[in-house]
Order: sequence, then structure tokens, then C-alpha cells
Amino acid sequence: MSQRPIYLDNHATTPMDKRVLEAMLPYFTEHFGNPSSINHLYGWEAEAAVKKARETIANAINCSPEEIIFTSGATEANNLAIKGIAEAYFNQGQHIITVQTEHRAVLDPCQYLETLGFEITYLPVKKDGLIDLEILEKNIRPETILVSVMVANNEIGVLQPLKEIGRICKKYDILFHSDGAQAIGKIPLNVQAMNIHLLSLTAHKVYGPKGIGALYIRRRDPRVKIAPQLHGGGQEKGIRSGTLYTPQIVGFGKAIELALQEIDAESQRQKELRNRLQKQLLSLEGVHLNGHPTQRLSGNLNVSIEGVDGAALLLALQGIVALSSGSACTSTTTKPSHVLKALGHSDKLAYGSLRFGLGRFTTTNEIDTIGQKIVDTIQSLRQATVQN
Ligand SMILES: *Cc1c(COP(=O)(O)O)cnc(C)c1O
Repeated sequence: MSQRPIYLDNHATTPMDKRVLEAMLPYFTEHFGNPSSINHLYGWEAEAAVKKARETIANAINCSPEEIIFTSGATEANNLAIKGIAEAYFNQGQHIITVQTEHRAVLDPCQYLETLGFEITYLPVKKDGLIDLEILEKNIRPETILVSVMVANNEIGVLQPLKEIGRICKKYDILFHSDGAQAIGKIPLNVQAMNIHLLSLTAHKVYGPKGIGALYIRRRDPRVKIAPQLHGGGQEKGIRSGTLYTPQIVGFGKAIELALQEIDAESQRQKELRNRLQKQLLSLEGVHLNGHPTQRLSGNLNVSIEGVDGAALLLALQGIVALSSGSACTSTTTKPSHVLKALGHSDKLAYGSLRFGLGRFTTTNEIDTIGQKIVDTIQSLRQATVQN
């Protein structure tokens, strides 16, 4: 069997940690009960497991367990937050502020709300991918009900100044939602210190299972109202109906527990590997780093490469390394990345970009192997272009 490519697409998803799988397994078979069954042991066992996971996740972001609502992932959490707030606060105003570089799971619900008459401001970003706080403040209006700015970008890894954004939202008494899908378990998050009212989370970017996530919804100071988007059995305080997916919830809790144990050491380790790869690639002429050089995720590296055809480069690398290009990860279409476009890149340069996502299982050996191969590939593609 030929060797599988080295996996460096950890922003798209991560392999599940085997310790997470082990924690989940009993909840598919022996402990299969419905956590809402209050009359027997099967239900109690499942309920206890869900409670434990909820506490772990709440502790991870410094909120109380009642403020965690389980969802199918960050896409659903973002939809619930944005549409749920729009519906609940409709009478107070119909203006929402977000950012051009947000994930589609934030941008598309916002675009949907525009069809219902809401006004959305899509803030630009600076060349380094960060928002300008003065521009944010200038765009706040009396009818603004929500500001939605992600913690960590899924393409260029930049970390938005959450604390400062939280402070501005507090000053104007506006709700603050953040998409934390790329950040949970990788950088410390504290919804109190950051004055966050709603925070979207997912398990599969942090070595947990796919299909499970959560929305933090603040219940005190202020108590945030939210209109449910799924109606039914009334689970999760009526905010998100549907039988709780116990094995996935257990896995989510375990994934967070493991990530927090190693958060500092792992961040440092990935940063060193990332910097090594970065140095090697940037030593080539016409290779540029995308996003802020230091204010970003340790495992992220996004570069634009002049003078190569993006599609040809990806094709040449396909068997060597699994990563993503500067085109939208909306898989079915290949448009240039809206994030790189927001940084001011041309379509051509956006296509000629590579996103590396290092992860828990990335080794020094892997980084050294691919670094040289990518350099060689870029050079030979450039030479071929010149000769043609
Ligand atoms: C992956 C991702 C999502 C979508 O999360 P799912 O759990 O797959 O629905 C949303 N936002 C960001 C920033 C992401 O990276």
C-alpha cells in the first residue's frame, strides 16, 4: 500500500483521540439510556454522563453548566445564536454587526436575516486580518442588537481582540456572540473576562467526535433571551429540542478535558513546529505570510505563493500532504477564499495560497519531510512556468 499523505488539515477537522473513543464506547451499548428518562437507571446513567460533560465544558470557558446548550456542532450553534437573538430582540432593533472574514456558518445566517429585513454590517479587516476597533465602534447604532466576531479564524488563524470587543459591547449594552470553533481547547477562553454573551463551540476540531457542539448562552448579568430554532420535546430548557446524543456529548467532554490538560505545552510545541515550517517556506522569494505574525493560533500557517498556479501546486502536493488551498472550504464550489480576498488579495494570489493546520499528532519528522518537498515543488513549478 502506498503511504497516505501527511495530515495537515486540522482546521477542517481533527482525528479523534483514542482516549475519547474509549470514553464514548460504553454509551452506545450498555449505557444507552435517554438522559430525559427520569424513572429508571438507564436514564440516570446517561443523565449523569451528560451532567459531567456539561460541567467540564462549562469550566473550560468559566460559565455555569446551565448556560451550556448542546447542539450538533458550531454551525447549528451559530445559527441558533444569530437567528435566535434576531427573533427574540426584533422589537429592540434590527441591526447586526459582523466581519467579512467570519465562517460561512455566521455569514450565511446573517445574509438570510437580510432577506427578512435586518440590516447587517460586515466590517472590513486590516491587512493583518484583525478588525479595527474604532471602525467597530463607529458602526454601532441605537438599533444594533448583536455583534458577532469569531475568536480564531479558520483560515489564517488570527485571534481577534475579544476582550476589547467585549468592552465595547458592554459600553453600548449590546449582545456579543463569538464563534469559538477553532479556539476551544487551544487558547484559554473566559466568557466573564471577555464579556461574551454567546459562544459557539464544536468537538471535532479538538480531537472529539463530529456532530456535537454547544452554545453558551449567558443567564445572568444580563439574562440573554433566545428564540428556539428547533421545537419539540423541550430538551435543553426548551432552547434545543431533540434527544441528547449521549456518546457524542461524553466524547466532547473528554476531548475538552484532555485538551485543557496539555493546552500550554501543546501550544508551545505546535508553535515551534509551525515556525520551523514557516521559516523554510518564507525563505523562498515571493512567498508571503497571511494574517498577523504573532496574534494567531499556534498550529496555523497560511501562505500565498507568487508565480505558481494554485491548482497545479495542490495537485503536485496531493500525495505528499493533505492540506487546503486558498479557495473556499465550502467544498462544492471553488471560489477564491473570501478571507484572503478581505485581506486585499487578488483572485490569483488567493488561489495560490496554502493553509497548514498542525495538530496534536503532527511530528517534527513530518514537518521536516514536507518542508523540503514543498520548497522543491514550488521551485520546479516556477521553473516549468518560465520554460513555457
Ligand atoms: C469548523 C467551523 C465551524 C463549523 O463547525 P461544525 O461543528 O462543523 O458545524 C464554524 N466556525 C468555524 C470558525 C469553524 O472552524
